[in-house]
Amino acid sequence: MAKDQSHVLIINCGSSSLKFSLFAGEGRTAVVSGLAENLGHSESRLILKENDAKVTIALDGGNHDAALRRLMDSLKERDLLDAIGAVGHRIVHGGERFVKATRLDAAVLDEIEALSYLAPLHNPANVLGVRIAMEVLGWVPHVAVFDTSFHMTIPQAAHAYAIPQTYRDAGIRRYGFHGTSHGFVAKEAVELLGLDAKDHGLVIAHLGNGSSATAVLNGESVDTSMGLTPLEGLVMGTRSGDIDPGALFHIAREDGLTIDELDTLLNRKSGLLGLSGLSNDCRTLESAAAEGHGGAVLALYAMVHRLARYIGGLATSLPRLDAIVFTGGIGENSASVRRKTIARLEVFGITLDEETNAQMYGGRCGVISASGSRTAAAVIATNEEWAIANEARPYIGNAS
Ligand code: ADP
Repeated sequence: MAKDQSHVLIINCGSSSLKFSLFAGEGRTAVVSGLAENLGHSESRLILKENDAKVTIALDGGNHDAALRRLMDSLKERDLLDAIGAVGHRIVHGGERFVKATRLDAAVLDEIEALSYLAPLHNPANVLGVRIAMEVLGWVPHVAVFDTSFHMTIPQAAHAYAIPQTYRDAGIRRYGFHGTSHGFVAKEAVELLGLDAKDHGLVIAHLGNGSSATAVLNGESVDTSMGLTPLEGLVMGTRSGDIDPGALFHIAREDGLTIDELDTLLNRKSGLLGLSGLSNDCRTLESAAAEGHGGAVLALYAMVHRLARYIGGLATSLPRLDAIVFTGGIGENSASVRRKTIARLEVFGITLDEETNAQMYGGRCGVISASGSRTAAAVIATNEEWAIANEARPYIGNAS
């Protein structure tokens, strides 16, 4: 009997890891999800989550190819392989070329690869994942969904860096990331808050290991905190966010750091980790701060300060601000970060409902501002994988 092919497999391929989720029909919860990690290293393994069960399969030094083939075997064992009707791939950088999800073929793949100079840490790994998946699952359509696409509506005044034209002509501009999450959360916010889809303004704070904030006007991104790369903007787990480029010139001159060392310093050793000297993890820092760890206290306040400043700045790209929405691991779970941030935003007239705020964690969604608050505040759990599945689903049954 022919299978219904209503499932969509989502693949997010990094340099040594591969995350995946399989969605059945329009269901919002993955029927199987998990990741392959340490790929290419001796401890490489595949972890499959199904309902509440978790299975770990050793890959014995296997690479991305081995991981995907093992994943296909596991899906076959579960009678799920033939149910896959499309594959959605998360691609970090689509440059100015990709303004929406795009069916993958050899030419599109080459174009994405050519954009690797804009995202050297991400796009090559994404492309590797697509190539292997197209080989292993050659009979279904593959669709690229870009982190940058949602932000292609940002006007030039907001995305242009104040640098000479030669560089701007070479594509050096603000692009913005986390677009799938911001787009998904923006739609959910309209429903949750009962807003007019054609007349509303939001600032969405996606706070995780990587963090960004976006101003959304009537469903479209009009400004965002991340730039050419995901390094600009907010204080993140290990990324500095904004820093005076002059400070880099100074560090390079004084300490003789190379460009690659500066890259590592700002991408991997800074942010909450650099400020606290303890951890990149918000939960760990909240516990340490409660016990009086000075570095943890500073890290959390600096993160909140930058976030509040960005929310205030982004609001100037909107004719009206209906709500501030929190999402991502920190935004969805830390009542304390939300409370401290809202306390800094008195100018918007937000009154927090402390009790409701304290109850928002673990995937719960709701309004956390008190009734009568001039501007609303809400928590919405993001679901990037499902949002990618939504983009890929229309291609089911489309022969190339
Ligand atoms: P990623 O950007 O890797 O997807 P996540 O969105 O999963 O990251 O967010 C990870 C962050 O969320 C970590 O800093 C983690 O400490 C934080 N976090 C998760 N749960 C909580 C919690 N209950 N309280 C505070 N922070 C939390």
